[in-house]
Amino acid sequence: MSKYIFVTGGVCSSLGKGVAAASIGSLLECMDLKVRMIKIDPYINVDAGTMSPYQHGEVYVTDDGAETDLDLGNYERFTSSPLSQAHSITTGQIYQEVIKKEREGRFLGRTVQVIPHITDEIKRRIYLIGEQPEVDITITEIGGTVGDIESIPFLEAARQFIHDLGEKYVLFVHLTLIPMVIGGELKTKPTQHSVKALREIGIQPDILLCRAPYQLDESLKQKISLFTNVEVEAVISAYDIKTSIYEIPLLFHKQRLDEIVLKKLGIPERSTNLNRWENVVNTYNRATRKTKIAIVGKYVDLHDTYKSIHEAILHGGIANNSKIEIKYVDSEKLEKDGKLLEESFSDINGILVPGGFGQRGIQGMIEAARYAREKGIVYLGICLGMQIMVIEYARNVLKLEDADSTEFSPGCRHPVITLLTEQVDIKAYGGTMRLGKNETHLLEGTLIREIYNSPVTSERHRHRYEVSNKYRKAYIEAGLIISGVTPDGSLVEAVEWPNHPWGIGVQYHPEFKSKPFMAHPLFKSFIKASLETARIRNEKSEREN
Ligand code: GLN
Repeated sequence: MSKYIFVTGGVCSSLGKGVAAASIGSLLECMDLKVRMIKIDPYINVDAGTMSPYQHGEVYVTDDGAETDLDLGNYERFTSSPLSQAHSITTGQIYQEVIKKEREGRFLGRTVQVIPHITDEIKRRIYLIGEQPEVDITITEIGGTVGDIESIPFLEAARQFIHDLGEKYVLFVHLTLIPMVIGGELKTKPTQHSVKALREIGIQPDILLCRAPYQLDESLKQKISLFTNVEVEAVISAYDIKTSIYEIPLLFHKQRLDEIVLKKLGIPERSTNLNRWENVVNTYNRATRKTKIAIVGKYVDLHDTYKSIHEAILHGGIANNSKIEIKYVDSEKLEKDGKLLEESFSDINGILVPGGFGQRGIQGMIEAARYAREKGIVYLGICLGMQIMVIEYARNVLKLEDADSTEFSPGCRHPVITLLTEQVDIKAYGGTMRLGKNETHLLEGTLIREIYNSPVTSERHRHRYEVSNKYRKAYIEAGLIISGVTPDGSLVEAVEWPNHPWGIGVQYHPEFKSKPFMAHPLFKSFIKASLETARIRNEKSEREN
């Protein structure tokens, strides 16, 4: 029978609860336990698909096409928990289900209430994952901060797990902030308050993860322990990491978090094999090479929007024993000032244009793609970034001046990117795109086929528009290589520039499947090619000096 860990957050948001939950999951896996990860987002939206990247960051997509919170990406990178729609729960989904049952008369005339009906539905969904026979531990991260109105039913449901199963089956981990005030002193009062708020709901945390700028000393841990009733050994110092987030499982292990979890859950002691994380961290720290990559998009002010891409680039670096500097370039600024192009990319060895929606900043991305194609700079286009490649090629090589996507210019003369016929009449926004896992056939003799070393791949999609088949022949005649297609050949999935060191665009999102200890092949190859550019550049400048 599965045991259950709940991870809550206190004081404020953005403390890294997702990475903390994922790190606990990975530590348990390093002890050979089967772990499942669940994220609860207490907002009313049914899923993250319709939410603004500015507010919410990246929308993470699972194999089955669920549009979820970016924390599922952290779970994917740290653990091997399967992830699907069932692993992402929101208030919207819970209420939708309960109201549907009420309309079907399934509550037999009873008054439908938060307790027990809403809490029962929350519990049902968590048990659905935990009760699969192979599962040892189910970790549920409750989004938001204790004290938020929206999270109360979820915390109440979590509390009921102790009532249902008994103390040895449930563990509460609370992530909190120990802020530093002027003068450098660390303050425990906000933590005392947030634990108090949890206890008012009936939850006594077993473990505290204390985020602080530096390590907590023993006396501070004693003080926190005294005020919160958490054993002093279970007050864990989650201080700011200078290197990489992939060091966090090691940091937790050093403070014996794995042992403490087992002890509290009554699981017999077992050894932890941390080789995987030690290798990742050592490679990252010892990397001697370096390259600089630009991400060109319109949401660059909030880096969380490109979270999985950012991480996948770093994984590509680790796979090549290389450090990476990532520069975010605002595509809107690029289009306003032509001179910025040279300025932005003069020290860049690889350009990546990621996914996106809407017209703003598109011209800047097209300029960036043209620059990369003409100057032979390594380029990876993902989803929108591939569509940009196709539009740029139509305008500047096929000389179809008014070539565009109907997403940005519905009446353009050369709609090289258009809606799928089945998308044309859809008016709703939520969950209506081409979503989730689909097969792509990689064509012989292409770079992408060489990179994957396989004739077929399966990757996740999230888009509405496609390369129009009307222009396929013209593209091929003009040299653009169509290197990936759907199994029936009807949709373009990947393109490549001819006579170019490395210019690839893919309609899918490879970044979602990249792991720190197993970089996605496209990112590994992208970074390898950009390191080669860096090497040639260095040699050239040495020769000139
Ligand atoms: N806006 C484009 C489409 O819907 C690209 C989507 C994306 O980049 N995820 O097809």
